[in-house]
Amino acid sequence: MALVEVPKEFPTRLFINGEFVDAADKRTFDNINPATEEVIAKIAMAGKADLDAAIEGAKKAQPEWAAAPPAKRANLIWKIGDEIMKRRHEFAALEAMDSGKPYKECFTIDVPMAADHFKYFAGVLRSLQGETIPVNDNLFVYTLREPLGIVAGITPWNFPLLMAARKIAPAIAAGNAVILKPASPTPLTANLLAECIREAKIPAGLVAVLNGKGSEIGQAIVEHPDIAAISLTGSTAVGVKMIRDAAPTLKKLTMELGGKSPNVIFADSDLDTAVKGAQAAIFYNKGEVCTAGSRLFVEAKVYDETVEKLAARAKKMTCANPLDEDCKYGPQNNKAQFDTTMGYIEKGKKEGAKLVAGGERMGDKGYFVAPTVFADCTPEMTISREEIFGPVLAVQKFSEFDELIEKANGSEYGLAAGVWTRDVSKAHKYAKAIKAGAVWVNCYNWYDSAVPYGGYKLSGYGREMGLQGLTNMTQTKSVWVQL
Ligand code: NAD
Repeated sequence: MALVEVPKEFPTRLFINGEFVDAADKRTFDNINPATEEVIAKIAMAGKADLDAAIEGAKKAQPEWAAAPPAKRANLIWKIGDEIMKRRHEFAALEAMDSGKPYKECFTIDVPMAADHFKYFAGVLRSLQGETIPVNDNLFVYTLREPLGIVAGITPWNFPLLMAARKIAPAIAAGNAVILKPASPTPLTANLLAECIREAKIPAGLVAVLNGKGSEIGQAIVEHPDIAAISLTGSTAVGVKMIRDAAPTLKKLTMELGGKSPNVIFADSDLDTAVKGAQAAIFYNKGEVCTAGSRLFVEAKVYDETVEKLAARAKKMTCANPLDEDCKYGPQNNKAQFDTTMGYIEKGKKEGAKLVAGGERMGDKGYFVAPTVFADCTPEMTISREEIFGPVLAVQKFSEFDELIEKANGSEYGLAAGVWTRDVSKAHKYAKAIKAGAVWVNCYNWYDSAVPYGGYKLSGYGREMGLQGLTNMTQTKSVWVQL
């Protein structure tokens, strides 16, 4: 199949003060195409001096932005959404080449949803309001919702554009300046987004995009005294370190971290639909989804039939270059993730899980891993406990509702959960009993800009999206007036 056309030129440098610039020390790093293992481009690598320059720009731009009429801010933010949609193909092609996500998926899901994040927050920002609070007759008390100042967004590589939009849109909607630090394996679409932000006439300096290493520019952000808040989407290990390192400067933190989400098939479900749903829940975006339904619990009565159907479906999946319009399944995002996934597959085999599909690399070029299903897993096995972040499903059997809930909640994570059943009462009981930030009933992996999203337990704290995502980017001031 012919591959879609990729833009010949795209920004590769740092976005500071409304301009694309080299890193102060001129360093760059290689950006790799995970389907071909070839270098796509050299990307400017930000250091401390670049962060200082971005903060100076943010300090100049933010007060005026915060003071601007909300309607004006709303119009400009809405335009970012329009600019993204104007360049929908460019975004989708760059994202596919950079991240290994199928072009079609980028075009139909990631890009429109990123645009919608800007439009949603443009829409709701005018509803940011204070309150009046009756205290006593001689006092008039009211609250103001104020921006935090300069905030940072630090993002992972699995949904590069979408995560960038999720950090920037609510932050600027609430009147903040924002510094975005994308994950180093996927720098391209955040830079293209910066072009859209400039095109929309967002004031120079209000948004900076600093590509580079987590251990360097990420760490410098965490330690910088002028940054008031950080919203991280990433692994629990990095989150825990960040919480420690951000403590001396008392930053407000939002933590969207890892997951090991349970997905449950009851015997009374529409089994074919449930199996298809379970397949999509784990293999969508080649398993590189924080909410991936990576632990599947199947009721004993339909266990054998489910495993058989699931394995058959997994075996039929084929991979392709993500730039191929027919590609439905791409490579792991990067070499490190490929090695991690293959390592977990080996552990699954060694610990006695029954391999019923996949279990190996696909082809000999690119980081493709065959959709893998392990049956007869126990809760103790490594693949049932640890986040793999790849296309590996661990299937377990259950018989009783209470046993199921204990097993499903028996994880240190609590990001999401799914359930397939025709019994409404069972579905709601499950939704209530599960310790997770999102529960999907007879569906999986739905998201919307208007719906709050975030984790329980080691999956994090704070909420993004929805009105909570907006208020999360503000602080409250109480004003007391003696009458
Ligand atoms: P990661 O934790 O390795 O990196 C996330 C970001 O943090 C990157 O930009 C990285 O450069 C940066 N970083 C690393 N060390 C840092 C440091 N010391 N200081 C500051 N920043 C630092 O995660 P990843 O490998 O990019 O992404 C995969 C992980 O993200 C998985 O655990 C997945 O579950 C999680 N994730 C969670 C959600 C969610 O919404 N909860 C969504 C997507 C991904």
